[in-house]
Amino acid sequence: MEANEFKNTIFHTAIIGAGASGLFCAGSFNARKILLEAKAKPALKVSVSGGGKCNFSNKFVSSADYLSQNKHFCKNALAAFKSADFISLLEQEHLPWEERQNGQLFAKNARDVVRFLVQRAQRNNSHIALGVRALGVKKENGLFVIDSSSGPVRAQYLVLASGGLSYPALGGNGFGLKIARQFGLSEIEERPALVGLTLPKELRARFQPLAGNSLPARVCCGKKSFEGPVLFTHDGISGPAVLQASLFWTAGETVLIDFLPAKKASEIFAAYKHTGKTFCGALVKEGLPPKIAKAVLGELERDLANASRAQLEASSLAVNRFAFIPSGTAGLTKAEVTAGGVETRQINPTTFECRQIEGLFIIGELLDVTGRLGGFNLQWAWSSGFAAAKALEKRF
Ligand SMILES: Cc1cc2nc3c(=O)[nH]c(=O)nc-3n(C[C@H](O)[C@H](O)[C@H](O)COP(=O)(O)OP(=O)(O)OC[C@H]3O[C@@H](n4cnc5c(N)ncnc54)[C@H](O)[C@@H]3O)c2cc1C
Repeated sequence: MEANEFKNTIFHTAIIGAGASGLFCAGSFNARKILLEAKAKPALKVSVSGGGKCNFSNKFVSSADYLSQNKHFCKNALAAFKSADFISLLEQEHLPWEERQNGQLFAKNARDVVRFLVQRAQRNNSHIALGVRALGVKKENGLFVIDSSSGPVRAQYLVLASGGLSYPALGGNGFGLKIARQFGLSEIEERPALVGLTLPKELRARFQPLAGNSLPARVCCGKKSFEGPVLFTHDGISGPAVLQASLFWTAGETVLIDFLPAKKASEIFAAYKHTGKTFCGALVKEGLPPKIAKAVLGELERDLANASRAQLEASSLAVNRFAFIPSGTAGLTKAEVTAGGVETRQINPTTFECRQIEGLFIIGELLDVTGRLGGFNLQWAWSSGFAAAKALEKRF
């Protein structure tokens, strides 16, 4: 379809964003629709998701896996379209998938998933306009008129599926929030989530030499604790356990790391006290890599035999309860998702239509619903997109 052709068409539905939720919504009902996608390729985040293997869902999805000011909001949509439903769709297309630890579900190839999403949308009467950016929206005589980089687009219904603020290189931007504000919708303050944490200045020089190294550890933030790999970066820490903790971290809060979660450092030090070893040497014997042991202990490193009780206690704490206040996060450019977004009390949880603005639907990451790491955010994109589609297919 040429740009001047869609200028003269009134679509049943216009969807802003051909990402995960927009494409899935488009493929879930048959009506004449257009998807406007600012990027030259659709669903860039899905293409790179799960390290190129697309962690498309999780076997154990429940509302408890999502953070939102309105914790019941996600329940209906998650119940109406489950991980098993997405698996059935993949199997119909003969697309292989596998289950990994903690119920994480992966495809073999993320690009195949994108191809499937695009073809499914196209089979259901959708025109995907790539490289076309929505610039503004107004409602005129009962129709939504979208001012786009290829001219005006008119539709009876509008689905905002333009995602969150994170990862601008893959499409993240504030357009959806701008339009939501324009229509008088309130929002929960947005912040980067599933993101690395930066170390305070006083710790950076000590940990910088570890950049690129990782180890299994436990990261605690408030009452939440996560076990898994922790990766050292040039200015902080990342890796699955840290990304999970970042969802719950608020600025100024202390983070605790247990660098040897299966062992008590105090017992290790007691056992090695008279062996001529240093603190570091004892930890290395028990499996902590030497570079990491050295950085964790810092100035506490000394011979075990001469160590005072206070030094023993401080060193044990450094290993099992290393406490610091992160200076911040790696920011929206590197965050896997945006927490916060359009406040969900304004949205019908079954149809995803805005309660006060007839015909305007909001789905996906733009809403104040953020999943844990492990396939939950894509499941939210599918479930919310499906719910809106089922409501839209009844509107003719
Ligand atoms: C690197 C990375 C890896 C990830 N891996 C996983 C994973 O393995 N599993 C998982 O569950 N989640 C993962 N996520 C999160 C997941 O990709 C997102 O939560 C999900 O894609 C959100 O879907 P969405 O449709 O709301 O937004 P998006 O998929 O971001 O789609 C929004 C689309 O709208 C377009 N758009 C924005 N503004 C405009 C405009 N003005 N006009 C036209 N188009 C516009 C964007 O270009 C984009 O294509 C990952 C995220 C990142 C960044």
